[in-house]
Amino acid sequence: MDFTPRHDVSKNFLHEGYWFLFYKDRLVTLPAGGAAVGIPRSEGRPDPGLEALKTLADRALYIGDLDGTPCYAGNLPGESGVPQPYKLEALRPLHGRLPQDPMRAARFAAHLMHWDRNTRFCGACGCPTGDQRGERAKLCPSCKTLFYPRIAPAVIVAVLDGKKILLAHNKRFAAPVYSLIAGFIEIGETAEQCIEREIMEEVGLKVKNIRYFSSQPWPFPDSLMLGFTAEYAGGEVRADGDELLDAGWFRPPDMPVLPAGDSIARKIINWYQEVYLSS
Ligand SMILES: [Zn+2]
Repeated sequence: MDFTPRHDVSKNFLHEGYWFLFYKDRLVTLPAGGAAVGIPRSEGRPDPGLEALKTLADRALYIGDLDGTPCYAGNLPGESGVPQPYKLEALRPLHGRLPQDPMRAARFAAHLMHWDRNTRFCGACGCPTGDQRGERAKLCPSCKTLFYPRIAPAVIVAVLDGKKILLAHNKRFAAPVYSLIAGFIEIGETAEQCIEREIMEEVGLKVKNIRYFSSQPWPFPDSLMLGFTAEYAGGEVRADGDELLDAGWFRPPDMPVLPAGDSIARKIINWYQEVYLSS
């Protein structure tokens, strides 16, 4: 299976295909045996439950194809009205329960529908917006302001000191998971300046030799996570006690519980364990 995102929003569609329906940040899923879930799919004879959900959805945006099958996304007006066996579930914990390509499509849909919900009115004059023809944007019919999907860049960084890696427990993580330091880029900052500021604010360390690793769309709710590595350059580890409840240096075999799934944090930590330490 492969998900191909598409932005040719003018596609004339039949609404047969996969349906990524959200209420706020929760996705409608279908049980697929055990803990596994799938994405509701309309094909052939209509399923009355899904047809009802499609009627409730305020949008039916074509978002791309999953293994050649069209995918649509929509927002539901409330959490009631989701019939059995469908369920509303938070997207993030679906890692490992939803196969990788549908998960990629679901992340894309989540980001897009977050934007769609939050650009119903013009931020400049308050008029209801409409779809801009031919591109993924909203147009204010009154003052003609265009609103494109917002992508908030954030950094995530593995600080390395010799064979040790810096890991921290954020208050938003499920206990007892430890991961890398991350933060949003502020206006006027470079990614490197953001890393230096975040590492100093959150753990009181200086870093040097910042190097780009890779990136990952991170729709929680609308980020692009830019992954880096950096070398320790001074200071004593001190968790800020606000965002971070604990932080420290680790090295195998004494590693804490790590983030699961295909997150970029886990990819960088895997690289540290499998490539960096053996080099
Ligand atoms: Zn306007």
